[in-house]
Amino acid sequence: MLQIDNYLYASSLTEAYNTLQSVPGSVVLGGCGYIRLGARSISTAIDLSNLDLNFVRDTGSAIEVGAMTTLRSFETNPTMTRLANGVLKSAVENIVGVQLRNCVTIGGTVAGRYPFSDPLTALLALDTELQFVNHGRVSLEEYLSGKGYKDILEKIIIPQDDRSAAFTSIRKSKTDYAVLNVAVAKNADNYRIVVGSRPGKAMLSTDAADYLTQNGLDDKSAAEAGRLAAEQLQFGDNPRGSGEYRKAVCPVLITRALTEVMHAA
Ligand SMILES: Cc1cc2nc3c(=O)[nH]c(=O)nc-3n(C[C@H](O)[C@H](O)[C@H](O)COP(=O)(O)OP(=O)(O)OC[C@H]3O[C@@H](n4cnc5c(N)ncnc54)[C@H](O)[C@@H]3O)c2cc1C
Repeated sequence: MLQIDNYLYASSLTEAYNTLQSVPGSVVLGGCGYIRLGARSISTAIDLSNLDLNFVRDTGSAIEVGAMTTLRSFETNPTMTRLANGVLKSAVENIVGVQLRNCVTIGGTVAGRYPFSDPLTALLALDTELQFVNHGRVSLEEYLSGKGYKDILEKIIIPQDDRSAAFTSIRKSKTDYAVLNVAVAKNADNYRIVVGSRPGKAMLSTDAADYLTQNGLDDKSAAEAGRLAAEQLQFGDNPRGSGEYRKAVCPVLITRALTEVMHAA
């Protein structure tokens, strides 16, 4: 059972951050999708819901999304669904059901750094940056490659440019965790090819991206990029699939996603 000794509605990000640093056993609450599943004791639960962090803002050059924004906003907010061919909508719409997506937040998703995460794969393809209270602005790529911070995520910043993007995944059933997920993005002649749920966390394939930059995108190069990504990245076993299966299916998903981007262009 989950036990919470003290409950703090933080009145500022500074108060939330100082409490997290100074009170042993304190925990920041997002939508509590995972926090409430565990049997644990929390000395002080830090609730951010009074801090106006539930927003989607178009700044012209970027879309900023507050940490307490739910994943449901990724599929219903027109600013989000317009961005990069609606890739973020595609990345969240298979996550369990509307009720869960109405609760779980982008803050908890990023801070959790879940290797199976669908939105993290898409956000990495979109070159997303993160704004933390203490660590300031860091790229999602850098954040995922490190060990995480004892900090509070304020918002994410997604560049708004001419990028076309696509997300695809393979799942044993529609709402199960992905066996493998893929997002690709094309901006002028630059590509980002991301594979997640390997079952390790989402990673970029630089070999596939460089190949596409040099050779352009067509049916043949899409298939070759998929092959290069499967060669470059590591795949492993978990109860959802073997590393061998993931490696075999990776080029197929990348080719599908690149074909979607080609047709969008
Ligand atoms: C049953 C179930 C099935 C799921 N299936 C999928 C799936 O198929 N695909 C997928 O991509 N995802 C899936 N998810 C994950 C979900 O999409 C969210 O990523 C997850 O629930 C975390 O979001 P949350 O708001 O619930 O975070 P919480 O559970 O509240 O918090 C998660 C962690 O983040 C920390 N945290 C929260 N907010 C902040 C912040 N602003 N700053 C710093 N730290 C913070 C918390 O302290 C905690 O450590 C599933 C979740 C559940 C419960």
